[in-house]
Amino acid sequence: MAEYIIETAKGKWEVVVGLEIHCQIISQSKIFSGASTEFGDDPNINVSFVDAGMPGMLPTLNMQCVHQAVKTGLGLNAKINKYSEFSRKNYFYADLPSGYQITQFRFPIVGEGSIRIDLSDGSSKIIGIERMHIEQDAGKSIHDLSPHKSFIDLNRAGVGLMEIVTKPDFRAPEEAGAFLRKLRSILRYLGTCDGNMDEGSMRCDVNVSVRPYGSDELRTRCEMKNVNSVKFVMQAIENEAKRHIEVYENGGTICQETRQFDPVTGQTKVMRKKEFAHDYRYFPEPDLPPLVLSDEYINQIKKEMIELPDAKKQRFVETLGLTPYDAAVLCENKEVADFFEKAAAGHDAKKVANWMMSDFFAMLNKKKLDIRQSPVSAENLGKLVELISKEVISGKIAKDVFEIMSETGDNPEKIVEEKGLKQVTDTGAIEAIIEQVIASNPDNVAAYKNGKTNLAGWFVGQTLKMSQGKANPAIVNKLVKEKLDN
Ligand code: MN
Repeated sequence: MAEYIIETAKGKWEVVVGLEIHCQIISQSKIFSGASTEFGDDPNINVSFVDAGMPGMLPTLNMQCVHQAVKTGLGLNAKINKYSEFSRKNYFYADLPSGYQITQFRFPIVGEGSIRIDLSDGSSKIIGIERMHIEQDAGKSIHDLSPHKSFIDLNRAGVGLMEIVTKPDFRAPEEAGAFLRKLRSILRYLGTCDGNMDEGSMRCDVNVSVRPYGSDELRTRCEMKNVNSVKFVMQAIENEAKRHIEVYENGGTICQETRQFDPVTGQTKVMRKKEFAHDYRYFPEPDLPPLVLSDEYINQIKKEMIELPDAKKQRFVETLGLTPYDAAVLCENKEVADFFEKAAAGHDAKKVANWMMSDFFAMLNKKKLDIRQSPVSAENLGKLVELISKEVISGKIAKDVFEIMSETGDNPEKIVEEKGLKQVTDTGAIEAIIEQVIASNPDNVAAYKNGKTNLAGWFVGQTLKMSQGKANPAIVNKLVKEKLDN
């Protein structure tokens, strides 16, 4: 893609970004206890003694979370580590009752991998994954219910997380945005995380530094914690990079620190000086044995893997003739891709794609519906395209039929039959209409014969109008010329 260079009066700069993404694992129960993971329940309902950090309580690893993590690792084209272990990360905070988080430190369950991102100019780029480990979530502190008190909800405490750490491979805000959308798409295909950033089930920490353009040094980075939308991640990168450049150009230095992105101002402000790994006094978790996975276990999960968005996109381009752009849009969401394939089965796939990308998505947007709630079924959309391909109806009439389908959910064949919308291809019937138009417009006929030949289009329009759009336009065109010219 076009390079993202920040140019000032004093020089050219480039941005270096890495992301750390916490993804809540889809699982009925928490990672070390049997409590429910349900989102939105009354506060402190889904809390076991383990989650509350009661003395003497022992964690038990939920193998469903391990299964989901391995599946995710495979989806990230990553190495699955057969040996991993849990560690305690010690810190004090009111929403962490035990005083430590059980996480993975030295030996994570997933090693290096990669994700391909698609950029707006049609190019793509590979982003490296450094590692992915599993850990428990903390509770939630609520500071805005009372001016004097904070409240703690432990329903989230102990929910399983996958923390995905990328390599510092991003060189533009757009690349980070494309990565988050692709990651979310992969996680949703796999069913391992719902990817809802606004509900906090996918939270992104953004590490930003800058360097003179063309240099390969890595300067001090700052981390923005828990940025909660793709748009805000891109904005945070842009504004944080500008802040660094201003500091450097004025002779200052950047300190490694944790900052907070303010969505209202778009600016970042300091939260605390960055802590280093030794601040957390990590040590191996004494209450859990190392996690050892067999080849059979990993191979079993490999067999469950479904076709992911990149492979599906490639197949749509190669076997169905879609453009890479259309294929990418249709593959981002699995429900959309499945709907498309069902609609296109046995019909003109490119035409079906065109209908989905235009009228169909516009209809869902307007009605604020998810594709699963679409009043127009995949089969009926396919049938509509078939009616156009077979010239039973014109493209223009098809839009009216689609309008009715989106109100009633009816089969297009039935609508065309009932409303008498079949295209007229009978030349005799069309000739009769043309003759009528010619007879009632002698002035225009005379003008045409005197050389204003572009009036032919006007006669075509009048004929189509009189036929209520049902006359086949190609036949009308041909017959109008014949009639006017003799
Ligand atoms: Mn973490």
